[in-house]
Amino acid sequence: MRLPSGATRFVARAIGVPLLAAQLSFPAGLLWWGGLEVSLSSDRATVGQQVWAGVEMSDADGRTAVLERRTGRAWTEFSRATIDDGRARLAAPTTAYASDMELRVRVLGGDEEVSDPLHLRVDPPYEPVGRPEMARPGTARWNPCAPIRYAVDEGAPVGAAEDVRAALAEVSRATGLTFVEAGTTGVVPQNDTASLGAGVDLVVAWADPDATSMLDPIEGGVVPMAGGTAAEVPGYRGEDGRPTGWIVQGRVVINERYDLVPGFGAPTQSTGLPRRGTVLLHELAHAVGVGHADDATQLMNSGEAPAPHDLERYGAGDLAALEAVGAGRGCVLDTRGAQVGTWPGNG
Ligand SMILES: [Zn+2]
Repeated sequence: MRLPSGATRFVARAIGVPLLAAQLSFPAGLLWWGGLEVSLSSDRATVGQQVWAGVEMSDADGRTAVLERRTGRAWTEFSRATIDDGRARLAAPTTAYASDMELRVRVLGGDEEVSDPLHLRVDPPYEPVGRPEMARPGTARWNPCAPIRYAVDEGAPVGAAEDVRAALAEVSRATGLTFVEAGTTGVVPQNDTASLGAGVDLVVAWADPDATSMLDPIEGGVVPMAGGTAAEVPGYRGEDGRPTGWIVQGRVVINERYDLVPGFGAPTQSTGLPRRGTVLLHELAHAVGVGHADDATQLMNSGEAPAPHDLERYGAGDLAALEAVGAGRGCVLDTRGAQVGTWPGNG
């Protein structure tokens, strides 16, 4: 396999089947060495960059090589290819950030061969500020093995739906969660667990503080600029074996009394307020189960008015928290070990 220039080659060998002494007396031409060799084109990538696992195995033409990712205690298939001329090339997952993704290759058919684990790190396209230890993930998470269906306020400001889509794309890169559009909605979310409408798991709305309990005044009588919550059901566990709450509903409300500047990036000098996209990034992180970070360098710092923080994207602690509630821990399972389905309360 040709490697990109400058790429480091990382090789993991399969644990070989020990050859019995008796086999050594076989004619050399009949010996089967069972050697599976796997290498990643790089052990570090920027999100979206292609990384390949190169497979080399002799006498295995026509057999299927499968690349799997560790998700908790389980391994989940990501790609597969047929071995040809002793080689195969398998795409590695790079659509979401990962601080330490574990991969392996299995060769199916005949005597199954499994490689040692390989490690891949997928970074964001920018240098996040702060440290991963600043993370404050919650105790619950969405089931990453099902899409999250979201609806945007039918009365949202012009261009707001595009900002929601872009912010969710960033949350998806940070968590590995999948979001699908489920149209528009007239639901004004409250601080409760009422239905968000049939087939809707997450609502992003604009509302007056008089119309929603999610914008009730906080300490000092301050009316929030926005609010975001995740409704969880306790008593589930992840494929990693750890207990977790299952997040079944997400609610985000932006205070429509604030005329936020659309898009992403640094706060506008004229208002001193964060941009609409930045506010969405903060509240959507709450909606996927991330709490407030103490450190003021993180986007998930509470940044309570009237001193809005000047951040524009997720910091290292934010990203660590988002990863902790993301797809890397595998599906959410019920007490019988079955993967959870759709929450009945969402129709
Ligand atoms: Zn917050």
